Amino acid sequence: MDEKDEKDPISRREMLRKKLGLGLAQSIGYALGQAHGVRRHIEQTIRDPISPSPPTPKTAAYLRPPGAIDEISFTAQCTKCNACIEACPPKTLVPLTGVFGKAFGTPVIDPNLGGCTMCEDRPCAKACVDAGVDILDALLPMNMGHATIHRSSCRSHFGEECTLCIDACPIENAIAHDWRKIPTVNPDICTGCGICVKSCPVEPSAISIVPLANRPPKAVHPDHDQNAQGPAPD
Ligand code: SF4
Ligand code: SF4
Ligand code: SF4
Repeated sequence: MDEKDEKDPISRREMLRKKLGLGLAQSIGYALGQAHGVRRHIEQTIRDPISPSPPTPKTAAYLRPPGAIDEISFTAQCTKCNACIEACPPKTLVPLTGVFGKAFGTPVIDPNLGGCTMCEDRPCAKACVDAGVDILDALLPMNMGHATIHRSSCRSHFGEECTLCIDACPIENAIAHDWRKIPTVNPDICTGCGICVKSCPVEPSAISIVPLANRPPKAVHPDHDQNAQGPAPD
C-alpha cells in the first residue's frame, strides 16, 4: 500500500466500486439495446417480409377466345359489344357472368356449349376489328389453355373403357390413352378448345379447361402497324 492509499483507503475503494457499477450498467444497457434491436427487426420482418421479387398484380384467368391479348388490356379495352359472340359459328362464346368489375359481360368460351372449333378464318377476331377494338389477335396461336381430367369422376379411372374425349379431340395426340388406358392430356399440344368437355358422358363433365394464365400483350405486326413507313420514295 502506497502513501496515498494509506492516507485515503476509503476513497480508493469507493472509486473502484463506482467503476464496477458503471461497467455493469453499461453491459446491461448494451444487452437491452441489442434485445430491443432484435425485437424491432423481428417486428419489421413480420410486417414487411423479405420477398425475392416485387409483387405482381393478380388477374383472374378466363377462357377467352383464341388470340385474346393479356387479361388487363383485354378487360380494359373490350366494349362488350358482343360482335365476337354473334360472329362465332358454333355459338360457344357467351358474356361472362357471376363476376364483379370490368370483366363482367366480356366474352368467354363456354365449353359446355361445344367449345371453340378453332375456325381458320377467326370470325371472332374479324368481328372485333370491324367493331373498332382489335383485341383478338388473329396472328397469335390458338392456345387458350389446356384440359384437365378429373380422376374422381372419369370412367376410365374406374376400369371402364371410354375413348369419347380422345375421339372428339381435333388435335392429334393432345389427349391419348396411357399404358393403363387412362386418357392423359399433353398440355404442350392441347389448345384448351374445350371440345372434349361436352363429349364426356359424365354429368358434370369429368374434363375441365384450365385457361391460359399469362397471355401475351398485343403484338405489332408489320402489316398491321399503322405507323409503319412505306418504301422510301425514289
Ligand atoms: S375461333 Fe371460331 S369457334 Fe373459336 S371462338 Fe372464334 S369464332 Fe368461335
Ligand atoms: S368484339 Fe371485341 S370489343 Fe366486342 S365484345 Fe368481342 S372482344 Fe369485346
Ligand atoms: S384435349 Fe380437349 S381441350 Fe385439348 S385440344 Fe383436345 S379437345 Fe381441345
